[in-house]
Amino acid sequence: MSSMFITQKIQEFTSQILIGRDFLNDASFAQELLKLGSRFALLMDEKIVSLYRDFLLSHSLDITLFPIPSGEKAKTRETKQKIEDALLEAHFGRESVFLIMGGGTVCDLGGFLASTFCRGVSHVFIPTTLMAMVDASIGGKTAVNTPYGKNLIGSFYPPKLIAMDLSCLNTLPENERRAGMAEVIKYGVTLDPELLEVSEIDEIVRRACAIKTKIIEMDFQETGLRRILNFGHTVGHALEMSMNISHGDAVAVGMLIESLMSVEMGYLSEASFHKILGVIQKQGFPLKLASSVSHEVLLVKISYDKKGGRFVVLKEIGEVEPFSGSYCTEVKLEILKKALERYAKIVD
Ligand code: NAD
Repeated sequence: MSSMFITQKIQEFTSQILIGRDFLNDASFAQELLKLGSRFALLMDEKIVSLYRDFLLSHSLDITLFPIPSGEKAKTRETKQKIEDALLEAHFGRESVFLIMGGGTVCDLGGFLASTFCRGVSHVFIPTTLMAMVDASIGGKTAVNTPYGKNLIGSFYPPKLIAMDLSCLNTLPENERRAGMAEVIKYGVTLDPELLEVSEIDEIVRRACAIKTKIIEMDFQETGLRRILNFGHTVGHALEMSMNISHGDAVAVGMLIESLMSVEMGYLSEASFHKILGVIQKQGFPLKLASSVSHEVLLVKISYDKKGGRFVVLKEIGEVEPFSGSYCTEVKLEILKKALERYAKIVD
């Protein structure tokens, strides 16, 4: 596939998405970076440094590497502070450009850091997981976790450039590829049923980027339409915080439980629920694990979620109930409990 650009216009910001293969060490990519500045801090997931460092450091650009820890446990205020101190120590300032390379956790943490460092510096995302390519790097939501819940401290701060080199997916373990597919299924189930039929990865990424671009251009700060993209996440985040499972695995289970809530509320048909179940089972998500989590623990975690216990409700595959433009609603505790009980029976 040859490289292609998607341009996003988000309020006063413009972001470019570059999608292609094997371009990271191309001179033309270095030229793109030079349009943004002349001194670069490469904030790179420490686990992929040995795999990808040379692609960027081979350019004759002024780039300093800062390996950073990845994973949910490292996506904290404490990690952010340590990196900030290292950057200040190395005399990075307002004119510098951050190249943030890794999966969704590194993008969330690095994006937040870029938004507050010297009151905001330009940044480029170079997403290396499917999760980061189809979702986390797009749309300017940045955050760190707290003991109270996921992503509770953060900002809306879009990058200047999102450079997706799909060849980075060649080194991604299967369980991480599957995690990214959870967000792809989310787009399919809420907005674009045809996406569920696509199997070619380049086409999946291109289409997911186009869908998310369309939504965030209309509702960057999540006052309505963008909430659709939280489908599966209210329950998913609570599961992720209560159990040691990946974001993608938690969202897959969250989508099933929230689909069951839509059934219980009389919006979604049983047949459509079973189609969604089939799509999620086909990807091999570990579904049983989540049936053992205590309902009480889950309910407490849901109450701390930013969405405050509000849920996206499905009417049909590809159609969400608009609720007069708010695209989410509060749901009676009884409905959530029933959905959790049914879920446990289905997967046990
Ligand atoms: P991650 O960043 O922890 O990466 C998963 C693992 O893959 C890590 O061990 C990492 O070292 C490894 N890895 C990364 N790239 C690799 C490569 N090319 N080859 C081999 N290994 C590689 O997790 P993730 O699933 O990418 O992201 C999950 C995070 O994204 C969550 O914190 C979630 O909240 C966030 N997220 C944010 C948004 C948003 O809009 N801001 C959207 C979706 C998800």
